[in-house]
Amino acid sequence: MSGAIEKGKKRWRAGVLGATGMVGQRIVQMLAQHPWFELTEVAASERSAGKRYADAVRWHLNEPIPEEARKLVVKDVAPPLDCDFVFSGLDSSVAGPVEAAFAKAGYPVVSNSKNHRMEPDVPLLIPEVNAGHLASIATQKKNHGYESGFIVTNPNCSTAGLALALKPLADAFGIEQVHVVTMQAVSGAGYPGVPSMDILGNVIPYISGEEEKMETEPRKLLGHWDGKRFVDLDVRLSAHCNRVQVLDGHMESVSVKLKKKASVKEVREALRTFEVDDELAGLPTALRRPIVVAEEADRPQPRRDSDAGAGMAAVVGRVRACPLLDFKFTVLSHNLVRGAAGAALLNAELLAARGLLDGKAGKDLAT
Ligand code: NAP
Repeated sequence: MSGAIEKGKKRWRAGVLGATGMVGQRIVQMLAQHPWFELTEVAASERSAGKRYADAVRWHLNEPIPEEARKLVVKDVAPPLDCDFVFSGLDSSVAGPVEAAFAKAGYPVVSNSKNHRMEPDVPLLIPEVNAGHLASIATQKKNHGYESGFIVTNPNCSTAGLALALKPLADAFGIEQVHVVTMQAVSGAGYPGVPSMDILGNVIPYISGEEEKMETEPRKLLGHWDGKRFVDLDVRLSAHCNRVQVLDGHMESVSVKLKKKASVKEVREALRTFEVDDELAGLPTALRRPIVVAEEADRPQPRRDSDAGAGMAAVVGRVRACPLLDFKFTVLSHNLVRGAAGAALLNAELLAARGLLDGKAGKDLAT
């Protein structure tokens, strides 16, 4: 970890693009208590720009709007902003060119949006799964002529929990096929999201683009960077995605075919004992053991387990044999924390620890 991170002193100034949205306000809230990052800019659409953040945002969280955010004036989503790097929680209709413009202007961009995830030189990052993919940033900068800027993305909210649970199994036994059925919370659709008349007392068996993301993103995440390109993991995935009337927390029923035979006990042990190295465990938002294995027969449940590990854990339960593939389990993760804001925070922390946020910050100090 960079020796320059002093205890008790915030070191990097963060901007949030899309700060008024569901994901953006979670990031704003998590930054308030963050030991390394200080929120200095918020930006959103022309509907919000020019207003004080407290007046522009429709705040959905139980905790009050952080004091330091209330008074900030919402800016347009265009550089320059007074910060060392930006988080992006922008709607995907605008995120593509806006994020590229910030990278071009020298800002590291830590994005939640789908737009750049599958690009051949952009890391799709879950630090516990594929920290090695950060090596692609040098290639990205060269390909695009970026100086201190670049783009790093986190996966789709339902992919996040799945990929985390698959990681120890891919490492220990190899995985060949995955079948997953999701039950996804309404907060995953942003605000105001799914109309109450559609979702109350109902299940909607369609989320636009979600199955395609779940069938491709894990292959990139679980693959590797060979120095020139990403090599996907050779695994076949099939996903059914459903919207259910749960507020927060995406639950998934997963069946897996392994490359190497393993007992249910060995699979459960691989999940239970999965832990990260000291570098990752030292990051403020990280958990040493990001997978929690629930022992109760009727867990995980969104209302009871979404906040496990401050929302950063993937909670796995019901690990058992599968008559079709080799075994099956249930996994739950908080879509707005593990699947969005917390994921972005963790990605930014890893970038900071590896000195990758220092480019613009260093240049600004020198001028
Ligand atoms: P959201 O609540 O609809 O918020 C969208 C944000 O984008 C708002 O700040 C909005 O600003 C801004 N925006 C919309 N149109 C804009 C424009 N034309 N120009 C500039 N800013 C604009 O959406 P969300 O749920 O937070 O999701 C944000 C992104 O994260 C999306 O790409 C989504 O796919 C992704 N994501 C979401 C989740 C989740 O669980 N919700 C999880 C992972 C990833 P105004 O308030 O001013 O309109």
